[in-house]
Amino acid sequence: SLIEKTDSKHLLKIKKGLVPNMNVEGHVYVNDNLRSLIYEEINAYKVNKSSTFLPAVVQIANVSTLPGIVKASIALPDVHAGYGFAIGNVAAFDMNDEKAVVSPGGVGFDINCGVRLLRTNLFYSDIKTKQEELAQLMFNNIPVGVGSQGVIICNQEYLDDALCSGMDWCVKEGYSWVEDKANCEDNGRSLYADSNCVSIRAKKRGITQMGTLGAGNHYAEIQIVDEIYDKKICVMIHSGSRGLGHQIATDALIDMEKSMKKYKINVIDKQLACTPIHSKEGQNYLKAMGAACNFAWINRSSMTFLARQAFSKCFNQSPDELDMHVIYDVSHNIKRSTRAFPPFHPLIPLDYQYSGQPILIGGTMGTYSYVLTGTEKAMDLSIGSTCHGAGRALSRNKSRNTLNYVDVMNKLKENNISIRVASPKLIMEEAPESYKNVSDVVQTCHDVGISNKCFRLKPVAVIKG
Ligand code: 5GP
Ligand code: MN
Ligand code: MN
Repeated sequence: SLIEKTDSKHLLKIKKGLVPNMNVEGHVYVNDNLRSLIYEEINAYKVNKSSTFLPAVVQIANVSTLPGIVKASIALPDVHAGYGFAIGNVAAFDMNDEKAVVSPGGVGFDINCGVRLLRTNLFYSDIKTKQEELAQLMFNNIPVGVGSQGVIICNQEYLDDALCSGMDWCVKEGYSWVEDKANCEDNGRSLYADSNCVSIRAKKRGITQMGTLGAGNHYAEIQIVDEIYDKKICVMIHSGSRGLGHQIATDALIDMEKSMKKYKINVIDKQLACTPIHSKEGQNYLKAMGAACNFAWINRSSMTFLARQAFSKCFNQSPDELDMHVIYDVSHNIKRSTRAFPPFHPLIPLDYQYSGQPILIGGTMGTYSYVLTGTEKAMDLSIGSTCHGAGRALSRNKSRNTLNYVDVMNKLKENNISIRVASPKLIMEEAPESYKNVSDVVQTCHDVGISNKCFRLKPVAVIKG
């Protein structure tokens, strides 16, 4: 078989030949449990070829056919099928190779989706009697769900400024604290961003959605630090660039289909549409993508502002008094997974020079989430990346058809988790059973050595779209 177990316990190799014209091998990092999910997916595909997504292994192999790819097409343990690229599939391209391409599928539709973690100086005993009130305040403050509109007033001119300046715009407008920037990747401002490369349609979608959480697996969650001596309360916010990023990706895919003819590039799967990085089309995409990155950082910053307000109202203290600083803001959709840079790396914040970069891993609304740190080995094995979540195990359809609303709600209640959702069907779609086991995922990364476990977070209240 071309999918081969290796001497290294966690590495599954996809040999050249699984699909035609592979430039490099595929490397998949899994433990025994996660490996069987991969095989189950392949077998399900053999039975029912009409499914919209190819199995993750085929997508990983397809990515290895892209021009200019180096090292390997690498998949982290949370890998699952996505658009062209599998989610959790990273690839590096040699910038000195003039054939090297950039592909919107490698970034995904939610450009710069990411997770931000805020700390507080509160203990569980402080919030215990106010848990429901706090959940409701967060839900009232943060616009969630499909079609929700942001409370931050924004016009066209403002938006252009925002798209070019990223979090500097938030600081200027008073939504962010100056020190928030230091713990965001690239200081919350993309080097490439140019709002002139963003379509009118994308801007229209962005203008009303600044400071909105979105739907699906995006969430704001109040959590308690678990498995550590100092059990403080934290807030985790997972969101991205909303309709603006989605439109930029859509526009780019159309643009690239045309440019592939021009540059005579053939791809094995239409969803892998791409263009040479150094072409006009490639550069335009990077500039638009930079603008979407800025929008996503602004979006998470705006919700930080709203979360700080909610806490402030609930506890009658200022966010400053509550010590609500940004611990870290991780971008997990600029290259399809999270960065995992080691201690002393020049691109990580001062606060984390000794520990390594913090990596924020959402689990599910009913299980643990994790904070990990980056390692030297990740630079060697996985292009400085590690996992970014549990990863879906069931499709949304399958979750809705097999899980029961009342059962899921009862379980959350048993675990003392308050929940507010905009759409009831999310309860099944986002149930813990819909995801892989996050502890397996982070433990695999830990054992492989591409990230270290640091601490665990337990959900107290969840706000979702
Ligand atoms: P993404 O869709 O960005 O690729 O994945 C984000 C990850 O967040 C998922 O793989 C899942 O593990 C996690 N996640 C989804 N919903 C929730 C939630 O409500 N709370 C927490 N803590 N994590 C979640
Ligand atoms: Mn997202
Ligand atoms: Mn995400």
